[in-house]
This record gives sequence, structure tokens and C-alpha cells, in this order.
Amino acid sequence: MSERKKVILSEAEMPTHWYNINADLPAAGVELPPPLHPGTGQPIGPNDLAPLFPMSLILQEVSAERYIEIPQPVQEVYRMWRPTPLVRAHEWERALETPARIYYKYEGVSPSGSHKPNTAVAQAYYNKEEGVTRLATETGAGQWGSALSFACQVFGLECKVYMVRVSYEQKPYRKVMMQTWGAEVVPSPSPDTNAGRQILAESPDSTGSLGIAISEAVEDAATRDDTKYSLGSVLNHVLLHQTVIGQEVIAGLEAFAEDWPDVLIGCTGGGSNFAGFAFPFLKENISGGRSARIVAVEPAAAPSLTRGVYTYDFGDTAQMTPLIKMHTLGHDFVPAPIHAGGLRYHGMSAQVSALQASGLIEAVSVQQRAIFEAALSFASAEGILPAPEPAHAIWGAMQEALACRESGESKVIVFNMCGHGHFDLAAYEQHLADNLEDFDYPEEAIRASLQKVPSV
Ligand SMILES: *Cc1c(COP(=O)(O)O)cnc(C)c1O
Repeated sequence: MSERKKVILSEAEMPTHWYNINADLPAAGVELPPPLHPGTGQPIGPNDLAPLFPMSLILQEVSAERYIEIPQPVQEVYRMWRPTPLVRAHEWERALETPARIYYKYEGVSPSGSHKPNTAVAQAYYNKEEGVTRLATETGAGQWGSALSFACQVFGLECKVYMVRVSYEQKPYRKVMMQTWGAEVVPSPSPDTNAGRQILAESPDSTGSLGIAISEAVEDAATRDDTKYSLGSVLNHVLLHQTVIGQEVIAGLEAFAEDWPDVLIGCTGGGSNFAGFAFPFLKENISGGRSARIVAVEPAAAPSLTRGVYTYDFGDTAQMTPLIKMHTLGHDFVPAPIHAGGLRYHGMSAQVSALQASGLIEAVSVQQRAIFEAALSFASAEGILPAPEPAHAIWGAMQEALACRESGESKVIVFNMCGHGHFDLAAYEQHLADNLEDFDYPEEAIRASLQKVPSV
């Protein structure tokens, strides 16, 4: 019999619970410092967050329960595309002449083309349950805005999206996709908020950043009664919702009759696809059952895990969010306009940061020309055109596979292919024309912005 190409679990095998790593952090000796109120410096309570989030999500944010049931209506929507395929990259292995066995989890089959609907659907559902009628959010590459627009459409909510200007211009069809699902989309910085107007006054040509767009969306939600804020990454509840990915990977590898991976690789912007993919495996690392190396790959233009400082900082530019202890480049650091818009963030999730600080995960950074070369190598062999973000994970997998070629080891390498690149063809066009720029490590800019990190 020829070798199996992919595993798609049945709908009945789809996870019914999310996995909450907070339950297992104490056993790993990992401390998760609480978010602090920016005014008082004291840990924030549920009521501080109530203007922004529905209570069910606030409670998930601080929950220590190991498994949290996925509501039936959310599971029903998940079934539109879940379970997603786990694919053996035979063709790519042959192209790389590696004895490694490479697998990828493909989240690009979702309606908006990435892992983001896993949390968007859950967030829209809980907001709807608590009587919210409108959500405001930011989007970088447009993936999160698309996912939330879709989820709001499903549950009948209005949606306003502040889209980082550089992406708004690079990806006009992402905007159309969001509008098709009924959302209102504006380029950020926008004249619609105080935060946006202030930045436009200082720098009218601002390319925008996730930090700026978050400020705008938070202000929108905080100043309207009918509106709450929705975040596509970074927060504990977002990472929680993504853990359907890793749980499916574990079941999929079993169906492939693989014992356990040697190395798991994901890209990190705010940390959600990485966490959702890796945390169910990390649970085993912590319990001492089975173990795998876990590697985060980030862009050299926004190297929070590899070059940032682990300290309390704001999640946004205008200093409106709580202070979060995380790996940060400084809240007003604006990353170079790389094509992986979803990775252009100055900070990192608190959970991923704490794990990195404790040495339970590894991190590397890479320039954008290298990731597009890896993406092309992968696409030529496996057919699927990756988004620039997972191309970072592909690059990481390729380094591991090439190391196996040297050593002769047939390691099991698994990476998260968290989205397709069908809206990133302008970037591919530049790459094919040999027109892509690398951006030097922004040492000066990082040093300057780190000086503005508050001392707590
Ligand atoms: C948003 C996004 C990312 C970055 O966000 P994480 O929270 O780090 O996952 C990465 N890849 C894709 C395809 C995205 O849409």
C-alpha cells in the first residue's frame, strides 16, 4: 500500500473541550504574573475588564480549570471546516532529500483562510449570549478582521474593523472579504478615534501598527454601550480557544501511527496559533510523559521573544490596555512593513512569554527573504501557497529537515500551517521578481522604545 498522505478526523472525533495550560503551569514551576491596572499598578479584577469583554471571556482569562467545554453552538459552527487536515509532507521531504518525517496541520481550510475563526466564533458567541450587539477590533494582515467579520455574521452582530494602513493598502481584497461578511472597515490610524487623530496629527503618513489599531478599537468599545472589544491573539482566552488545533494534531498523529513528534514548530505574532498547536503537547512535556522540543519562529523585524525584554508593558501604543508581563520591544515600537502583517506586534502573549522565560520553549528569528524561499520550496512540492506568517514555521521546519539530512536522523517534525497565502500574492510577486527587502535588526529603534516601558 502506498503511504498515507493525510488524516482528517471524523466530526465525532472533534475536540469537545479546550485545554487550559494555566492548570499545568504550577507543576512546571512557571509563574504567570497577573495583568496590572495602568493607573494603580495593582492586579486588575474582572470588573476592570467588564467595559471591554463579556464576563464569560473574562472568567476564562483567569480560569485554572484544565478543560473547558466548547459550547454546542460553537462546535456546530466549527464543523463548517473542522476537523482540519493533518498532512504528511512526503513530496517536500523528497524535494529536501531528508530522512525526516514532516507533518503539517493545515488551518487554511477555514472560511477566512486561517486558524483565527477558532476564537472569533467563540468570542462572537459569548458576546451574543451577554446581549452585546456590536464588536470593535483591529486587524494586521486582515486575517483576524476577516475571521471576526465571519463570526459576527454567523451570530448577527455588527463589526467594526480598524485595519493597519500598510495592510489596508497591500491587501484591498481582505477589506472586500470583510465587507462581504457585513463589516465596516477603516484604515488605521483613522480619524474615527482620539488615538487615531492624535497619531495622524503627528505623522500623517503613518503606516500604522497593531499597537495603534488596538488603541483605536479599545477606545471605540470603551466609549460605546452597545460595543465590546475583541482581540485575535495575545490573551489567555484566545490561546485557549486555539487548543482545538493541537488536540486534533495529537489524534491525527495517532491515526498516522506516529509515536510522538521530536520537534513542533509554529510562527509567533501574539502567540495564539503557536500556543493552540503546541500547548496540548506541552502538557505532556510538563507531566513528564512524552516530550518534544517546541520552537517559535518570529520575524527579525519584530523579534519580541528573541530580542525583547521580559517585563510589564502596554499591549497597545496609546497605553490604554492593562500592563501585561511579556516579552516586549516597547509599546511604541513600529515594526518594519514586512509582508507577514500578522507578526508585526511589539509584544507577546503572557503565557508564551512565561514559558519562554522558563526555558520550556525555544525561539528563533528570521528575515523575510529566507521565509519566502522556504515558502516557495514548500509550495512547489506540496502545492499549497502559505501565508507569509506560517512561512516562518515552514522555514523553521526546513532547517530541522536539512539538519536531519546532515545527520541521517529521521526525526518527526510537525509544524502549524496556520493559513493560506491567497491574499498575499503581491508579496509573492515581489519575491518572484527578486524585489523583496530584508530589514536589518532595528537595534536603535528597539533601544529607544524600550526606554519608554513603564517601570513597575
Ligand atoms: C494572525 C495570524 C498570525 C499571528 O498571530 P498569532 O496569534 O501569533 O497566531 C499568524 N498566522 C496567520 C495566518 C495569522 O492569521
